[in-house]
Amino acid sequence: MELLEKKILECGELRDGGILKVDSFLNHQIDIELMIEIGKEFAKLFADKKVNKILTIEASGIAIASITAQFFGNVPVVFAKKTESLNLSGDVYSTDIHSYTKNKDYTARIDKKYINENDRVLIIDDFLANGEAAMGLMRLVKMAGAEVSGVGICIEKAFQRGGNLIRENGTSLHSLAIVDVKEDGSISFLRK
Ligand code: 5GP
Repeated sequence: MELLEKKILECGELRDGGILKVDSFLNHQIDIELMIEIGKEFAKLFADKKVNKILTIEASGIAIASITAQFFGNVPVVFAKKTESLNLSGDVYSTDIHSYTKNKDYTARIDKKYINENDRVLIIDDFLANGEAAMGLMRLVKMAGAEVSGVGICIEKAFQRGGNLIRENGTSLHSLAIVDVKEDGSISFLRK
């Protein structure tokens, strides 16, 4: 998606450890015009999947998923929670996920009420690195007996394994920008 690639080149900062910082439009301040275009693009790419629910993970996925849902006819958005809360009933599906950016494990959980065997779920997230978050969300969907309709990612990092793992597994994966790093340390984009 050209608009997203342009924004990454203009505002993204590549940090040590292959971390791309995009706080100015995706992870801290949010560019709503860009989000709307991202939502429309996901709706086009997954148009034939009969999506009736979107699943993401807090925090950054929530804004992307919420705007995207409007282009799927206002389907509900569920976000997996990373911390235990009194608000959450004890009846949850949960799975452990390794965080690439924090380098530690956390438990992601969703209340059993919000995903069931009638759901065709589109998983949305901001980044795809090693695929831990996306595969964790796929496990939660499967625990609920629902179907994973696809995985929609804003920024995939080509130099980490997540993209290959998910594509090999036969899941429909669309990443709107696939970032690679050239030898001189600058950013380039791949198309898949
Ligand atoms: P994965 O689970 O695929 O290894 O990593 C994806 C998760 O880690 C995303 O939910 C995202 O929050 C975070 N992440 C991974 N790489 C980056 C990065 O380069 N920049 C930012 N901002 N977040 C990242």
